[in-house]
Amino acid sequence: MCEYCVQHGAGKRWFLNVRNLSKELATSDFVRDFAESYFARNVPSGPDGFSSMMSRIARPVLPDEKERVLDRYKKYLHHQVVTTREVLEILKLCSAETEEDERSVVRFPCICRHSALGKEKMLHCFGVAFTSLYTRQFPDYLGGKHEYLTPDEASDIVVNMANDAPIVHAVSALGVPYVGMVCNCDMDVCHPYLHRLRLGISEPFHKSHYLTEINEQKCTGCGVCVQVCPFGAIHLDSKLGIARINPVKCYGCGVCSRNCPEDAIESEKELRVTDF
Ligand code: SF4
Ligand code: SF4
Repeated sequence: MCEYCVQHGAGKRWFLNVRNLSKELATSDFVRDFAESYFARNVPSGPDGFSSMMSRIARPVLPDEKERVLDRYKKYLHHQVVTTREVLEILKLCSAETEEDERSVVRFPCICRHSALGKEKMLHCFGVAFTSLYTRQFPDYLGGKHEYLTPDEASDIVVNMANDAPIVHAVSALGVPYVGMVCNCDMDVCHPYLHRLRLGISEPFHKSHYLTEINEQKCTGCGVCVQVCPFGAIHLDSKLGIARINPVKCYGCGVCSRNCPEDAIESEKELRVTDF
């Protein structure tokens, strides 16, 4: 159990504590103020957005910057990698929190892809349960249309996305500890991940709760997992001809396990002890 689960999970993983998806919490003054400022943002898109993002990433770290960023994340935002199964569990909780057939999940453009790639029409992020209270106030957020979905429709889309590409799911507390968003990240352009790398602190983008393991009896050394791991955490052991995972580099995202043709990777077996 991570520190955030201890504080906000009521005995569960924090994003599966139903109170954290509740209307009561979503409409609290603190969450409302943060969510409204979040969706009111606008960022430059395409080459301008990418160069402005990269210039921020390349900038030397200022003396008090880590402390300031830590404070901000602890107060407002918590991003954490989750597996596909965990995303489906979150969406199931949305069903419990809303009326049957209610379009309680909103799909909107990914701000990271928008700024880096300029593909503002790309719908990747999901606002869950009561996030639509806020997105409906900002229908032009990032210049893309929003889609309102039932949790079942959103679940089908998530499964298809995960089958089609090595995306990494991350759940976000959009105003602590309101579970407001599920991202489907491209690690090459993911702002919180790049922020983590730049500052050397886990707060902007926490690893999942799991360590991932290779079943050496099943692995044939085909190398698919090496190609798809978004974090460069797997290599082939040339002597044994099987895959090996570097637990320090691994984020427990489950992309390798989704793609292994031999079902030789267990991504939700062992609990992670440290985030670094
Ligand atoms: S994809 Fe599966 S079988 Fe292929 S090397 Fe990786 S763990 Fe082994
Ligand atoms: S080894 Fe697997 S679970 Fe770990 S970061 Fe790479 S793809 Fe994700």
